[in-house]
Amino acid sequence: MSRFWSPLVHTLTPYVPGEQPRLADLVKLNTNESPYGPSPRALAAMHAAVDDSLRLYPDPQALDLRTALGKRVGLSAECVFVGNGSDEVLAHAFQAFFAHGAPVLFADVTYSFYTVYCGLYGLPYRQVPLDGAMRVVVEDYAGPCSGVVLANPNAPTGIALGLDDIRRLLALQPDRVVLVDEAYVDFGAQSAASLVAEYPNLLVVQTFSKSRALAGLRVGFAFGQPELIEALTRVKDSFNSYPLDRLALVGATAAAEDEEWLTLSVGRVIHSRATLTEGLESLGFEVLPSAANFVYMRHPDRDAADIAARLREQAIIVRHLKGERTAAWLRVTIGTDAQCQTLLAALRDILHRNT
Ligand code: PMP
Repeated sequence: MSRFWSPLVHTLTPYVPGEQPRLADLVKLNTNESPYGPSPRALAAMHAAVDDSLRLYPDPQALDLRTALGKRVGLSAECVFVGNGSDEVLAHAFQAFFAHGAPVLFADVTYSFYTVYCGLYGLPYRQVPLDGAMRVVVEDYAGPCSGVVLANPNAPTGIALGLDDIRRLLALQPDRVVLVDEAYVDFGAQSAASLVAEYPNLLVVQTFSKSRALAGLRVGFAFGQPELIEALTRVKDSFNSYPLDRLALVGATAAAEDEEWLTLSVGRVIHSRATLTEGLESLGFEVLPSAANFVYMRHPDRDAADIAARLREQAIIVRHLKGERTAAWLRVTIGTDAQCQTLLAALRDILHRNT
């Protein structure tokens, strides 16, 4: 308790981020970063931009980046918003769209930041249960609400809905914004960006942190019709300019244009995901069908927290989330093939030990 804090701050429970340990030789499979590094073209563009021009402010409209992002999905720059990571874009969206005096709806097992944003902006929310197979049931999102947030693929489950499901969801809530958080969409799901022109209530949020391996640059973006982008622009804190610095703008624009690198690194992750899933299943794990760069798994007779602790002893870190519906599960980022093999060998060893 602090006498300096406002009553609001006392009510907030901060998000607990995945750890970023400073040890060098870890097998780090806990925060869904890419093992393959950013586009070489993006790196070269950023190197080239380290010059005297850094004395000048960046383009307040981030126009090159917004144009490049829109072009990929057939939208103009006025349908694109950019921010410091998709977390910032999500925060603005919660503030801009979800205070209609009814709860915001999202799944009971999903990205845990959503409850944090609701706390921050004083928004009531209702967590809609996933079904027994950990799937989102679209029909459960009917009725009065302030908006819907759907992570697709969902995190931490990795399960994706198809565009038909998303159309049904949009039709269920025509007067509310349906926010589709597509942080992991490039790893095998269909993007709802193609529906933006058709649905004025759709906001699609994506990031450079996962498939484009630029988590350190902090760039996220959203697609929506200009009416929605205008609302985001009104709530963003840097009054009349986008918050991205010159290097982030240049690097992200080059990364957005490097389709070849994206396809190559995503292809490698998808390939490794299939091999890892097979290996895990042969060890007795139940692995949910993943369209993301991680898998969600549990063992029928081993404690997940214990497995995570034992992996850690071998310098392998995975994510274990506490909570009623998640405590039995582990979320494992798809690493390089070598890292996946190291993980499988460690798990084999742990499972074969009796204590
Ligand atoms: N959405 C989901 C579902 C995520 O898992 C994450 C990463 N933790 C984010 C958004 C935010 O990613 P970033 O801010 O790096 O774009």
